[in-house]
This record gives sequence, C-alpha cells and structure tokens, in this order.
Amino acid sequence: MSNTSSLDVAVIRKDFPILDRMVNGKPLVYFDNAATSQTPKQVIDAIVDYYSSYNANIHRGVHTLSQEATDKYEQARLKIQRHFNAAKPHEIIFTSGTTHSINLVANGFSSLLQKGDELIVSAMEHHSNIVPWQMLCERTGAMLKVIPMSEKGELIMDEYRKLLSDKTKMVFCNHVSNALGTVNPIKEIIEAAHNVGAAVLIDGAQAAPHIQADVQELDVDFYTVSAHKMCGPTGVGILYGKEEWLHKLPPYQGGGEMIAEVTFEKTTYADLPHKFEAGTPNICGGIAFGAAIDYMNAIGIDVIAAYENELLVYATEQLLSIEGLRIYGTSENKTSVISFNIESIHPYDIGSILDKLGIAVRTGHHCAQPIMDFYKIPGTVRASFNFYNTKEEIDAMVEGVKRAKAMLQ
Ligand SMILES: *Cc1c(COP(=O)(O)O)cnc(C)c1O
Repeated sequence: MSNTSSLDVAVIRKDFPILDRMVNGKPLVYFDNAATSQTPKQVIDAIVDYYSSYNANIHRGVHTLSQEATDKYEQARLKIQRHFNAAKPHEIIFTSGTTHSINLVANGFSSLLQKGDELIVSAMEHHSNIVPWQMLCERTGAMLKVIPMSEKGELIMDEYRKLLSDKTKMVFCNHVSNALGTVNPIKEIIEAAHNVGAAVLIDGAQAAPHIQADVQELDVDFYTVSAHKMCGPTGVGILYGKEEWLHKLPPYQGGGEMIAEVTFEKTTYADLPHKFEAGTPNICGGIAFGAAIDYMNAIGIDVIAAYENELLVYATEQLLSIEGLRIYGTSENKTSVISFNIESIHPYDIGSILDKLGIAVRTGHHCAQPIMDFYKIPGTVRASFNFYNTKEEIDAMVEGVKRAKAMLQ
C-alpha cells in the first residue's frame, strides 16, 4: 500500500488525552467516530479558557467580558463561514446540531407547503432527516417520496429523476450515510432538484469530518453540521441557509435575542442570523466549534481524507479475510465507515465481546432503520475510523472479531 499522506499519527494522537485511557484493562480502541468524534486538547483548552476567563452572555452587555465573549462567538461564526465557503456570515445559524437544524427548516416549511406538494427523501437517511419531514407532511398534507438504493448502498439516480416533477418542493439527502459510509452524488441531486424549482437540504453531519464541502460551489440551499462529529463539543452545530431562503422562512422559536421590537400588539423579528437564534445559545460550544475547525484545518481535510482512506482500504481487506463476514455499503465512493455482520451472529454479541477487549464499535440500526429493513437484517456492527486511528488498532479489532466468531459460532 502506498503511503502518500503526510499525517504523523503518533504526533496527532498526543493531542487526544482520551486515547491514553484503558478500558476493561486494555488500551482503548475507539472506532465509534461516526457517532461522535474525540476531542483534542486544543478544543478542550478553548472550553476551559472560556469558563476560566471570559464567561458572559453575548450581544447585550456593555461590559468587557460580554464584549469578549461576543467577539469570540462571532469570530467562530466567521471561521465556520470561511470553512464551508458561505457567501455571508449571517447565512450561518448556530443550532444545537444537525437534528435541530433540520427541524428548524422543516418547521419553517409548514407555512410554505400545501396539500398535493411532494417532498423527496433518500432511502439511506438518518432518522433525523426522515421524521421531521414526516411530521411536516402530517401538518401540511404534502407527500413524501423515497429515492431507492441499490444492493451496494448507492442511490439509484434514474429513479430519483423519475420522482422529480413540478410538484416537488424539497429534496433532502445526506452527503455521507452514517450507516454505510456512501458518499452521495449531491451535486447532481441538487442540480436536478433545482431544474424543477425544488429546494435542497443536505445533511452534512457525516461528511463534514471527512470531506471539504463548499456550499456555494454545491449551490445547496441548506446544509447541516454537528460539531461533535468533527472534534468539537456536543450540543452545538450549524444550519447553513442561503440568505433568500432564510428570509422566506419564519422564525422557529420565539424569545430573547430573536426580536427587533416587542409590544403586546406586535413583535418584529431581528435580522439574520439572530432571527433563528432565540435565547442564550451554547456560547462556549460555538467558540469551541471554531477551535475544532481550526484544528482540523491545521492538519488539512485532504490529508485527513487520504489517511482515513488508507485505514478504510486496510480494514476492508482484513475484515473480508474472515469467512462469512459481509460488509454492507460497498460503494467505491465511501468514507471510513464499515458496517458488517458475520452470518447469523447477532451484531450486539460481537460488539459486547469487542468491548471486553477495549474496542468501541457501534451495534444496531444506527438511527437508519429503513437501511436495515432493505438488507433484511436487525442491525450491523459498525466500525468507523478517524484520522487518529491506526492500522495496529484495526489489527486488534480484526483479532477480536475472529475471537468473537470462534466463541459465538
Ligand atoms: C449524527 C448524524 C445525525 C444527527 O446528528 P445530531 O448531532 O445527533 O443532531 C444526522 N444525520 C447523520 C448522517 C448523522 O451522522
């Protein structure tokens, strides 16, 4: 295997204190990165620094601490804007994460849809990109249609094109599937939707840690990200929305910060982005998200992606050498996620044995039950790698899976 990446994993690992931990008497092998990533000390330091030196509420105070907190929070918004190449800072709305971002948009569309309108979702979505739209359909009488997928775990684009019509008002799809790792052809999906006048929301939660997304180049209407999947803290994320769409959507929640003027007769709303940021936000989280973006960019998303692809190729080869092991999601275009089962062994049993060996994988439906139904399985074992993982750790997992197989069969 060629070693083209310039990533020094031994150096990188020193940034992550948790990787020194023992679990059940064994060194931790953390392969649950698709659920949440680990946090480097640069991000932990940003959190400690906030609470140790300038914790204050933002946007309202004349005092120094409040101004410092406001500056740092708005700087984080600018970092995120630059990272995703949004045209304007106020197109970045801070949210609590992808789930919140999608609900914000789905709620806003309540007033823009009517009975007979159609929405299109892909067959490989996370529940958070399915359920809010089903709730929207219940409220409005709109209909939800599904882009089918193939056995390899790829969307069938010809079928997608057949679903599009002038009734289509919105299309939503993940950039990368958290259960299969498939990278979806979102540029084509967006273009085709725009040709019939539909808006597009792309769930970028699983893509942002591995792929550089440029929202202007993609011409996407909405893009969602969770900080905790890209080395940031939990409970914070963003919604990118094109300015024209954010003006069209009504506010999601009412409260402080989102108003221009309040009287009992009539309240007017604040400008973007504050219209969508009611109440005191996760100030520290937003600032730490900015630190996480800085951290990843200092390594380079391309360098990260190249190294993770090496891990993916290596782990795929090693796992497939185990007889009876099947991988779900075999697209050529995928990120470092491997979902697998061994014959009729229940994924939970494999996961439990791996945990005894200090190896953290996820088992179950991965919040994507329709995918499991498609393959007619209860769930999978999912190993997902990040740039701080190593081939030695993969070897440990493969040995563990072999042991589990011997014990359970
Ligand atoms: C993790 C994930 C979500 C949900 O993100 P939250 O941070 O839990 O809101 C949605 N979609 C995909 C593809 C994900 O991987």
